[in-house]
Amino acid sequence: MKCGFCGKEIEKGTGLLFVYKIGKTINFCSKKCEKNTLKLKRKPRNHKWTEEYRKKNS
Ligand SMILES: [Zn+2]
Repeated sequence: MKCGFCGKEIEKGTGLLFVYKIGKTINFCSKKCEKNTLKLKRKPRNHKWTEEYRKKNS
């Protein structure tokens, strides 16, 4: 299970689960990632600390 924003592996029993109205779910490793996705609507690829950014720039 990976974080929907930074791509970090989330340990079982930790992290946050968000359920969209349409039934889709997304996991977050921390409040920081939850906020960036849901509130700030940021794109992971624009942030150095995410896996998506590293993938894109490697
Ligand atoms: Zn995360």
